[in-house]
Amino acid sequence: DAKEGGRARLARHDTERTERARRVLDLTQSLRRAVTVGDLELRFQPVVGLRDGRLRGCEALVRWRRDGRIVEPAEFLAEAEESGLIVQLGEWVLDAACAQAAAWRAVGHPERVFVNISPTQLSSGLVDRIEAALRAHGLPGSALGVEIPEGALMRDPNASALHLSALAALGVRVEVDDFGTGYSSLSYLEEFAPHSLKIDRRFIRDVHLDQRHRHVVGAIIALAHALGVESTAEGVELPEQLAVIRELGCDSAQGYLLRRPVPAGEVWPEPFALPAAVG
Ligand code: C2E
Ligand code: MG
Ligand code: MG
Ligand code: MG
Repeated sequence: DAKEGGRARLARHDTERTERARRVLDLTQSLRRAVTVGDLELRFQPVVGLRDGRLRGCEALVRWRRDGRIVEPAEFLAEAEESGLIVQLGEWVLDAACAQAAAWRAVGHPERVFVNISPTQLSSGLVDRIEAALRAHGLPGSALGVEIPEGALMRDPNASALHLSALAALGVRVEVDDFGTGYSSLSYLEEFAPHSLKIDRRFIRDVHLDQRHRHVVGAIIALAHALGVESTAEGVELPEQLAVIRELGCDSAQGYLLRRPVPAGEVWPEPFALPAAVG
């Protein structure tokens, strides 16, 4: 009967919940081990200026080498965030990114390394941690950039504005990641005073196919420029997409068309697949 069915459903629900909890715990424990013993790696994806086709910097993207397999952030970042482990993971990423930036600088490549910052990291002493990492590696603030998702900034916008201005004062470049997905208000955007808006990949995907997407991307670029901020397109996979964002006045681009995320040794040398030198 209905009661019986309801009980069975509840029991099943309980089992599912227990299983999920166990999976999260298991994942968190092995990830904690990975952070401790250094089973993490960074990939670097170039960001290319669309006016000159030159490298603007590289985004550091974390990977987990687990039993000989490379695991992508989509499979563990949510759990790392939920468990608080993201703070240690973020420390590892920051240190490794600074070490790489210092190594590149030593061979004449002063371009910035960009690190991604999660909501929890933003509210866990981020500015002090970045300052300490820069000092530990003997780097100026101009060696580093941060990418903070719009949604993370909007959790506590007043605190975010303070953090961002402290980072900017250090010379660190501040980019709003996944822009267009996080409901930020224009007044806060002005207060955040970032250096660049990174237009989320989902807007770029159909930009060459659909007039509406083209208009939305054009509007974001115009908004950025009205605020005195640059714009970067992420997820550029096709020459057609690149042509449209260039025509719309986008400042920089990143995506598989230009270069996939690669180990540090494969970033150089330029050039990238920019069709014809831009004038
Ligand atoms: P994100 O910061 O928006 O990074 C862009 C993601 O898009 C990366 O995925 C990148 O590999 C992928 N991508 C780049 N170009 C293309 C393209 O042309 N086509 C497609 N389909 N994808 C492209 P990834 O490395 O899996 O990272 C996913 C997300 O995980 C990142 O999104 C970022 O939010 C987060 N993340 C990555 N590394 C870190 C980290 O060290 N710390 C923190 N807190 N978050 C990180
Ligand atoms: Mg990013
Ligand atoms: Mg992004
Ligand atoms: Mg994104």
